[in-house]
Amino acid sequence: TDQPIHTPQRQPDDPDAALRPKSLTEFIGQEAARDNLRVFVEAARARGEAMDHVLFFGPPGLGKTTLAQIVAKELGVGFRATSGPVIAKAGDLAALLTNLEPNDVLFIDEIHRLNPVVEEVLYPAMEDRALDIIIGEGPSARSVRIDLPPFTLVGATTRQGLLTTPLRDRFGIPVRLIFYTEAELTEVVTRGARLLGVAMAAEGAREIARRSRGTPRVAGRLLRRVRDFAQVRAAGEVTAEVADEALTRLEIDALGLDAMDRRYLTMIADIYKGGPVGVETLAAGLAEPRDTVEEVIEPFLIQLGLVARTARGRCLNDAAWSHLGLPHPNGSQT
Ligand code: ADP
Repeated sequence: TDQPIHTPQRQPDDPDAALRPKSLTEFIGQEAARDNLRVFVEAARARGEAMDHVLFFGPPGLGKTTLAQIVAKELGVGFRATSGPVIAKAGDLAALLTNLEPNDVLFIDEIHRLNPVVEEVLYPAMEDRALDIIIGEGPSARSVRIDLPPFTLVGATTRQGLLTTPLRDRFGIPVRLIFYTEAELTEVVTRGARLLGVAMAAEGAREIARRSRGTPRVAGRLLRRVRDFAQVRAAGEVTAEVADEALTRLEIDALGLDAMDRRYLTMIADIYKGGPVGVETLAAGLAEPRDTVEEVIEPFLIQLGLVARTARGRCLNDAAWSHLGLPHPNGSQT
């Protein structure tokens, strides 16, 4: 595939599974989310009931799927996973739901991409643990209600705002995931290196962490590439120098931006004089879907303070001009 190595999106042959933490204790970062989940898990366990429905939202690669699996494990229940676009018909969802064991977790990734007809089936399932099925056609059609076992729906989406209001309202536990700090990612890289058997110097881990776009999935991917490089080019140990050389070859700069990030910034700078420019225009210019621009590229650039989303469009901040090494158009530098 021509997907850049640095993208936080999931790839088909994702080797991430080997690095997935298996418990809330092992999970690094997202402290507020973890503390809350721990309470809800314990309470549900103590009552022997299904936990309330959970919605994880935040940029790709921050640990939504991982946390869903951990929640099931800590609840001591089964885990079934699917994704919004995969559930084509109402009957597909009905089949999934009727096959659950009591208190199981059903994970639906990309839940904002559910077909509206399927979503309608989900409402009574979430609220009343029931399915309303239409039997027959025309005047003789009638609706039959089927009771479902108690279950916990765990949904994941890149942005909470993408969900319809009725769906969003049915999640008792909304959990926002945020970008990881450099210290947290250093832990992620150090742990990954240990699991993969890579000799990792403390400064090497920090260098990879600093350039991982605040995202554990990216950290894992960069770790594997740096490992290859260290194995072939260096004596094996990943020092800060080895990491820096490998990441520079991958075109990942000191802030962790990749070629696509820089194309995005350069386009606003060169063609639109720093903006404002609409996201549709940028997406067309980059030949990327608008969703990718809004959900993958922009959140991190905004987090770094390089770009601002305004009512009139995207604008570069001063820091972006400095990072690109370009003179600020107004000559003002702050
Ligand atoms: P999402 O579902 O949000 O796209 P995933 O749960 O698939 O993200 O996480 C991507 C990968 O990043 C996981 O396979 C795991 O290896 C790693 N990862 C995510 N969160 C953590 C964490 N807190 N600590 C260590 N590794 C993590």
